[in-house]
Amino acid sequence: MIPTSAAEIARFRAAHDAMPDATRPEIDPGLLDSILDAAGRLADDVLAPLDGLADRQGCRVERGRVLTPDGYPSAWQAVADGGWLGLDLGEEYGGSDLPLPLKAMTMALFDRAGLAFNMACGATASASVLLAEHAPEHVAADWIPALIAGRRAATICISESDAGSDVGRMRTRAEPDGDHWRIHGTKQWISFGDHDLAPRIGHCLLARTGDAPGGRGLSLFLVPSTLDDGSPNGVSVIRIEDKLGLHGSPTCALSFDGSQAVLLGTPERGLPQLFTMISMMRLQVACQGLSAAARATEIAETYAAERRQGGDPTQPPVPIALHPDIRRQLAEMRSRTEILRAVVLQLAACMDRSPDDPDAAALAQFLLPLAKAHGAETGFDVTNAAIQVLGGAGYTRDWPLEQTLRDIRVAAIYEGTTGMQGIDFAERRLIRDPSGYDVFRKEATGPIAAAFGSLVADLRAAPAPRRLAAADAVLRAGWLAVAEWLGPRLPGDARQQLEDLDGQFTLYAGRARRALKG
Ligand SMILES: Cc1cc2nc3c(=O)[nH]c(=O)nc-3n(C[C@H](O)[C@H](O)[C@H](O)COP(=O)(O)OP(=O)(O)OC[C@H]3O[C@@H](n4cnc5c(N)ncnc54)[C@H](O)[C@@H]3O)c2cc1C
Repeated sequence: MIPTSAAEIARFRAAHDAMPDATRPEIDPGLLDSILDAAGRLADDVLAPLDGLADRQGCRVERGRVLTPDGYPSAWQAVADGGWLGLDLGEEYGGSDLPLPLKAMTMALFDRAGLAFNMACGATASASVLLAEHAPEHVAADWIPALIAGRRAATICISESDAGSDVGRMRTRAEPDGDHWRIHGTKQWISFGDHDLAPRIGHCLLARTGDAPGGRGLSLFLVPSTLDDGSPNGVSVIRIEDKLGLHGSPTCALSFDGSQAVLLGTPERGLPQLFTMISMMRLQVACQGLSAAARATEIAETYAAERRQGGDPTQPPVPIALHPDIRRQLAEMRSRTEILRAVVLQLAACMDRSPDDPDAAALAQFLLPLAKAHGAETGFDVTNAAIQVLGGAGYTRDWPLEQTLRDIRVAAIYEGTTGMQGIDFAERRLIRDPSGYDVFRKEATGPIAAAFGSLVADLRAAPAPRRLAAADAVLRAGWLAVAEWLGPRLPGDARQQLEDLDGQFTLYAGRARRALKG
């Protein structure tokens, strides 16, 4: 029931080719083709058949351990054996050292086939990037090759019951103990916090080491689920959450009772250091949204071409795709999907070049909250729109759309809610550190970008409480400025929404200005 990856791969190739020379990653076209084709085969043959089954079966806890749906352990090994967990990592760790846009494309293909399953891959691959940057050399040399080979897995372990958006309120503590540390506390909502895919899990965990309030007293640790000799390390599963969607991704409450831990990087710099991993995971959320939107659009387009209703009652019914209202819905879905695809590739290219190119690094910071928030929203909205195109059929389990709608809903919540992305964008990216916006302004010279510039001036002149009230609308207006900038790269069938950018911008700019005036 899930369409194969073929059309989606063609869309990625076209989007890659449409990038300007200066942005497009350097990769041999033959290699690009063969990697996308191999990712497509794995997605179609291994991951897609598990997706619906995993949704129905879910995960369970038995004798204190989480068991994942049938087929997950062998799918995990297939992903690892294919080298997909180390695509962008250095060859010294056993990775392939390929550009991040290519990884984003393959991640989106895997998400499209199995969003819940791929949560495990995303966290593990992102943890390797973090460890390469911040772990002591011997720890990186021990863990990264094992993560790439799938012998170990990893989590991002931040949230607690009283520390969600407000990370600085976390209570989990780390105490020094000889040449390592011990962790005491409880974490909540940890995706794949425990499972049966790999025998050892490394938790990339934030804990309090100092008395400084808020995020300043937090340090970053690697906490293995077992010690080197295989004995337990005081990490236990309290429960898994009973959720709306993502049933194939166990969301764990974990307790840490004196668990041995390795400090990563510098004490009390934990939160800024963890942004290496958070940025990768926010890019992944954008990929998740793209995958949901792309799959939903393709299903709706195919269905609308085949389903017959309406027309002259004396003649056979016509395909619903011929009705102007359905055409409008499909065109809008296609536009929103392709705008997101262009932004995801642009963001990944900027992140890839960040270490050597300060402008690219700054632009990545500007684009990240936009891509995370709009990836999540586009994924949900376009899936919802596809259900409408399918009518009653879309509401049933005969089609995968109802599952996707449930699965993708959380993308606007985890890795920082849409509300928090809005605040990050307005307060940090447009006011405190506008270097990325300055790069964007040089590149984006259209009328929406200019109108956005005058909204930014109004934002900067307003008092803080009003800026916070306007942040969400500013984020949405900023997205439209980015859509205008990347519009020339969109394929012909995705241009419809570009014609209406003006109208949408007026709506959000008006909403933002009303909030700024109070
Ligand atoms: C399925 C799932 C998987 C997850 N996986 C992980 C994981 O692997 N690792 C991990 O560490 N965490 C994970 N999380 C946790 C997730 O990151 C948090 O749920 C998220 O950050 C929001 O925190 P919260 O749920 O406590 O909501 P709250 O912080 O209580 O927010 C509730 C609402 O208030 C708003 N709000 C909060 N503070 C402010 C403010 N200052 N200004 C304006 N609005 C505000 C928010 O935008 C939101 O709309 C996961 C969550 C889920 C549901």
